[in-house]
Amino acid sequence: MLETQKKCMEINLSAIKRNYEKVRQEVNVPVMAVVKGNAYGHGMGEVALALQKAGAEWFGVEFVEEGIALRKAGIGGRILCFTSPISREECEEFLEYDITPTIYSIESAELLNKVACQRETNCRVHLKFDTGMGRFGFRLEDLDSALAKLKNYKNFIYEGAYTHFSDAFAKSGDYTLQQLSRFQKIIERLEEEGIRVSLRHAASSVAAMDFPETRLDMVRIGGALFGVAMFKNREVKLEKASRVKARLLEIRHLARGSYIGYGRTYKTPRDMRIGIIPVGYCEGLKVQRRNYTYSILGLVRNIYQEIKDFLNPPPVAFIDGRPLRVLGRIGMQLTVVDLTGIDAKIGDEVIVAIDPIYYKGEEKVYLADEDRGRFGEN
Ligand SMILES: *Cc1c(COP(=O)(O)O)cnc(C)c1O
Repeated sequence: MLETQKKCMEINLSAIKRNYEKVRQEVNVPVMAVVKGNAYGHGMGEVALALQKAGAEWFGVEFVEEGIALRKAGIGGRILCFTSPISREECEEFLEYDITPTIYSIESAELLNKVACQRETNCRVHLKFDTGMGRFGFRLEDLDSALAKLKNYKNFIYEGAYTHFSDAFAKSGDYTLQQLSRFQKIIERLEEEGIRVSLRHAASSVAAMDFPETRLDMVRIGGALFGVAMFKNREVKLEKASRVKARLLEIRHLARGSYIGYGRTYKTPRDMRIGIIPVGYCEGLKVQRRNYTYSILGLVRNIYQEIKDFLNPPPVAFIDGRPLRVLGRIGMQLTVVDLTGIDAKIGDEVIVAIDPIYYKGEEKVYLADEDRGRFGEN
C-alpha cells in the first residue's frame, strides 16, 4: 500500500457497507446515509456509490453543491439537502438536479415556489423544525404564521418533516425526549392544518441507536457508517472505516539533555532513540477540537480533560499496535515520537490516529469489496 508514498489513507468500503447494514437491521426503518463533509473525510462519491450498491435510497448533504456532486458521481436515489436555497440560481439547481430542499424560512420558500411555478414543476420539500438545537427550523411559537403561508405554496409537495437533536449523547435522555415531544406536537399541528407528511424523521446516529422512540419513519445516519459515533447501545458493534498509514522518515539517537522541537518543550531525560513521522497539525493531529465554554462548569471540564491528557497522553501513532509517545511540539507536517524499546527501521509503517476529515495526503486507497480486512471496532 505504501510503496511509493509517505502516507496514505485506507478506506474500507465493505466495512462502511457492513455498518450500514447493521444499523438498518437495528433500527428497522429506512436509513438515510449522511455523506456531507466529503463523507466525513472518506470521499463522498466513492462512499455514496458503495452504499447505493448496498441498497441505500436516501442520501443527506448539507449544501446543494454536495448534492450536485453526488448526481455527477452517479447517485440516482433521493438526496435531501439540509439547507434551503438562498438565491434564484440555487433554486434552479435544486430543481435541475432533483435535490430535495429543506424549508425553514418563508423567504426561501417564497423564492423556491416562484421558481418552481415558472418552470411549471412541483418540488418535494422537507420542513425543518427547531425543537431545541437553536439553528435552522421553524419553532413551535412561529408555527401558526408559518403555516398560514406554507399552505399557499401550490408547487410544493410536503413530503417530510424533521428536527435535529442537540444533546443525544448526554448522560440523561431528558432533553432529547423533550425535543421529540415538541416535534410530535408540531406534527399534530401540521396534520390539523391538512399537511400530512409521509416521512417524519429526527434521529441521527446516537439517537437512532440509543432512543428507539426517535426512529419514526426514517433515521439520518452519518458517524455510525464510519464507526465514529459515540452511542451507548452495546448490542451493535460497528467497524472503523479508515486508517492512515505513514512511513517512518528518520531515526535518531539523542544524548541525554537534548531538546526536541519548537519552543524546547521537551528535554530528553536520558539517551533516547526517536523517530520522525510525516504528519502534523495540518492533518489535525492533536489539534484539539476544543469547544468554547460559557460556564464555569464547562471551564472546569476542559481543565480536567487537560490534566487527564497530561497524566496519560493519548497516543497518536502506533507501530505493530504499540503506542508511540509524542515528544515535543507537533510541527505542521512533522511529529517526533519516542522509539524507546521499539524495534523499527526507516521506512517502517506507522498507523496514525488522525480524524479522516483532516487527512491531507494525496493518496486515498479504497480497499476492494472482497477485502474482508477489519480495522477494529469502535
Ligand atoms: C450531520 C447530520 C446528521 C448525521 O449526524 P451523525 O451524528 O453523524 O449521524 C443527521 N442530520 C443532520 C441534520 C445533520 O446535519
